[in-house]
Amino acid sequence: MSILVITHPTKPGDGELTILKSEGQVGFESAVQTCSHCQAVVEIHRKDKPYGYCRKCDHVLCESCARLAVTQGCTPFKALIDRYIEEQYRAVQSYPLAG
Ligand SMILES: [Zn+2]
Ligand SMILES: [Zn+2]
Repeated sequence: MSILVITHPTKPGDGELTILKSEGQVGFESAVQTCSHCQAVVEIHRKDKPYGYCRKCDHVLCESCARLAVTQGCTPFKALIDRYIEEQYRAVQSYPLAG
C-alpha cells in the first residue's frame, strides 16, 4: 500500500507532497502550494503543470484561477468566505423574530 505524506514546512500555504511506496521508497515527490483564490493544491516547480501567480495576493494560483484572474481580477478565497458570512448575517437579521 502506498502512503500519501503532506508536510507543512516553513511558510503557511507551502507544503510538500510525497507518495511513499510500501517498501518505504519515495514514489512521487512534489512541492505544493494552495491556490490563493480557490484553495486547490497546486504543484509547483513542474514544467508539465502550468500554474499562475497573483500579484495582488502575492501567492500562487491554480491554472483555472489564473485564467479567471485575467478577466475577473483578484478574488482571494478569504474574501469569498467573508462575503458569504456577511450574506448569512444579513439574511438572519432580516428574519422576523419569533415570539
Ligand atoms: Zn484556484
Ligand atoms: Zn489574488
